Amino acid sequence: MDEAHQDVIEALARVKGEVARAERDHGRKAGSVTLVAVSKTMPAERIRPALVAGQRVFGENRVQEGKEKWPGLRAEFSSIELHLIGALQTNKVKEAVALFDVIETVDREKLVVELAKEIARVGRAPKLYVQVNTGSEPQKAGILPGEADDFIRLCRETHGLIISGLMCIPPADEPPSPHFALLCEIARRNGITTLSMGMSADYDPAIQLGATHVRVGSAIFGARH
Ligand SMILES: *Cc1c(COP(=O)(O)O)cnc(C)c1O
Repeated sequence: MDEAHQDVIEALARVKGEVARAERDHGRKAGSVTLVAVSKTMPAERIRPALVAGQRVFGENRVQEGKEKWPGLRAEFSSIELHLIGALQTNKVKEAVALFDVIETVDREKLVVELAKEIARVGRAPKLYVQVNTGSEPQKAGILPGEADDFIRLCRETHGLIISGLMCIPPADEPPSPHFALLCEIARRNGITTLSMGMSADYDPAIQLGATHVRVGSAIFGARH
């Protein structure tokens, strides 16, 4: 093992410990929160130590970058679960359905149409989460909170997709907890039990408010350049 990446192993162990502590502190069941290690921008040799240490769930934000890194790592390590956490262009749907196990960023009908077509064509269905723009930020992806119920119904009833989760990225300059609570409420009224919320800076309150998946990048792999 390359000693230069010992920091990744230590940070991963620390974050896993903190997730377990947050589960205890907030009365969540042990093991009810899945750590998605966000490896975007990190080269394969920096991801490998996390895999050797047993981490199996990872997040990438770009289809192209995922295609460059993950087929090789999958040949070395079994049972990897790869999440797409960045915007998905419709012209990348084929590649995304082939590569990812979970697509967390379903947020518009045009994308839903293409996903439904491709899933039917290849008979491979990644799990799908709807991204909700809880802060209604104009520059941010995601369906607006007031449109979420109709959109989820459209995915399910018009296009026959299984929506198993919701995902949000709260505004950077606001306390995140109201956004986590809003996502939780939208999930509850739509019968959705998977909540992807919380990043390096705020996974503790996310776990308090019901996150089942926390997406943690820099706290594990260090700052991105
Ligand atoms: C980069 C990214 C993360 C991880 O952010 P950190 O602050 O580095 O933990 C989580 N979710 C999404 C959607 C991201 O793009």
